[in-house]
Amino acid sequence: MRMAEELAKRSTCARSQVGTVITTGDLTQVLGIGYNGNARGLPNRCDGTEPGACGCLHSEANALIKAGAQIPGKVMFVTMSPCVMCAKMVVNSNVRRVYYRTPYRDSAGLRVLRLAGVETCRYDRWRDLWR
Ligand SMILES: [Zn+2]
Ligand SMILES: [Zn+2]
Repeated sequence: MRMAEELAKRSTCARSQVGTVITTGDLTQVLGIGYNGNARGLPNRCDGTEPGACGCLHSEANALIKAGAQIPGKVMFVTMSPCVMCAKMVVNSNVRRVYYRTPYRDSAGLRVLRLAGVETCRYDRWRDLWR
């Protein structure tokens, strides 16, 4: 989770900075990392200022693109709980458990995960402690 928080700092999104790390089920290998932002090669900022439509790829999507769907039982660490569309991508990418640090204002994404059988866990231990 600390790694996801460091990744979030790289985001230039004007609305929020979110980071994601996806690992194997035994937590020994990182399969993909991501933070929210524009596509590679495009200007490193939001497309616009309209709330909810800044055009940034979400950090979960960026990490899932790299981690892929082939390996089952993956674990995701994300600094904010996923939106509905990211939650559905999580489900179809064979992620088994999602640890999130801050709940998103809309908990619909978490409901989607639970409905589809993905474990969710709010993980805010040691938030303020470096260890
Ligand atoms: Zn943005
Ligand atoms: Zn999302």
